[in-house]
Amino acid sequence: MKIFTAATPTEAHIVCELLKSNQVSCEVRGEGIFGLQGEVPFGENSEPYVWLLDNDTLPLAQAIIADYQQAHLGEQWQCHQCHESNEAQFGICWQCGATAP
Ligand SMILES: [Zn+2]
Repeated sequence: MKIFTAATPTEAHIVCELLKSNQVSCEVRGEGIFGLQGEVPFGENSEPYVWLLDNDTLPLAQAIIADYQQAHLGEQWQCHQCHESNEAQFGICWQCGATAP
């Protein structure tokens, strides 16, 4: 089942790796059509998401994602150069390498 919809493929992979490190089987899906945004109808279907492979791990996965979102809520900064959103813990933009404000 779909457990997390990410704003960017990078975020989808971060969450997926976080889940995997807690023995939750998952994979990133939907990122293949991410690059086509603008050509396909915009919406949730065009965003990358994390797919849970084992529904038995759903409660654990939800707890991990809740922790992740809590930790990152409102802590993103927007790059002044390319306007990409970056996680607070990164000192430079993952997209273009500009330094955080
Ligand atoms: Zn940037």
